[in-house]
Amino acid sequence: MKDSDKKTRLMRSGRSHEGWVNVPPTRASTYVFPTVEAWRDTRAKRETERLRSYGARGTDSTHALEDILIELEGGFRAALFPTGQAAIAVTLLGFLSPGDHLLMTDAAYEPVRRFCSEQLKRLGIEVTYYLPDGSDLKSKIQKNTKVIYVECPGSLTYDMLDLKDVSTIARQHHCVTIADNTWGSGWLYRPLELGADVSIIAATKYLSGHSDVMMGVAVSNKEAWPLLQKAAINFGQTVGADDAYLVSRGIRTLPVRMLTHEKNALIVAQWLKNQKEVSHVFCPALSTDENHEIWQRDCKGTNGLLTVEFHPVHAIKQIEQMIDALTLFGLGASWGGFESLVIPANMNAARSLTDWTSRGQVVRFHIGLEDPVDLIKDLEQAFKQFHL
Ligand SMILES: *Cc1c(COP(=O)(O)O)cnc(C)c1O
Repeated sequence: MKDSDKKTRLMRSGRSHEGWVNVPPTRASTYVFPTVEAWRDTRAKRETERLRSYGARGTDSTHALEDILIELEGGFRAALFPTGQAAIAVTLLGFLSPGDHLLMTDAAYEPVRRFCSEQLKRLGIEVTYYLPDGSDLKSKIQKNTKVIYVECPGSLTYDMLDLKDVSTIARQHHCVTIADNTWGSGWLYRPLELGADVSIIAATKYLSGHSDVMMGVAVSNKEAWPLLQKAAINFGQTVGADDAYLVSRGIRTLPVRMLTHEKNALIVAQWLKNQKEVSHVFCPALSTDENHEIWQRDCKGTNGLLTVEFHPVHAIKQIEQMIDALTLFGLGASWGGFESLVIPANMNAARSLTDWTSRGQVVRFHIGLEDPVDLIKDLEQAFKQFHL
């Protein structure tokens, strides 16, 4: 499908059939039925069909958002969760049982590592990390491997692997491939098209796009849907109507926001690359990036994320002073909103297979929708901290 078709379909999805352009927020718990027969009929059908039956099983607002997500990711059905972390945790619990083995990327979002060591371990689920480029993945598959978890591009350094290859290998070994697609958010990267079974997005980031809502979403193919649906329902996962509405609203402008994030990030990346304090800028859209080739083949663009590695001579304290001197970059968790952010990263805690001990301090920037000229001016004055 061409890009233009995708945009049109995205704008047409999840719309109201009752005259309004948008489906109005439906705050609801109880849905009442006219007869016992109608109630019984809905209960018999609701495992396979999406119907109005009870608030936890979805409202008009969540159904509209699900339709938009199915279109965005090219999936069969979608489940909604109160945070991105909840979407990941519940999905993993839906596919793993005690005694199973999970292959986890070493580039995973850090709280997912904690979920593995503090929750999955307690349940007797074994976890092995593989290199973010997937080069050792096949050799780490065991008889009891049930899930291969991918985050591509990965957290902080945007490492990529050949997802088509990985999902083929997974299928051969009867494993399910679950991808964290927060970086691509369904617009830049589409894991289901590359063979993944479930694609998870922290909607808190680019889908909402305005730093005003928390949500996670999981979109799956037809085969994976029954287990994903069971997990979401049995763990009582759903979202409120107003949050569903906000995320639906955010997605309408996702393609245009992404273009500006990309344009601004590439301008700022060039400036950062030219600073003598900087040893490397991580961003797969840069031709100097290790992942550039796979990115060119599998992604439609890049987003506002840039990670900078400083030369090891620069002490953490000096870098923190530079961060404190920034005025247009907020210091805080998350990204994907309209605004620029910055945060120092601890790579030694974020990776177990790559040794960062002798490498420089890493700082992650999220380049927002401000004028990049102003962002660079702000960086210029903050970088003066290196020469004091
Ligand atoms: C932020 C993030 C999450 C978690 O999302 P929350 O909504 O903050 O729980 C998961 N994966 C990635 C890659 C993220 O960046």
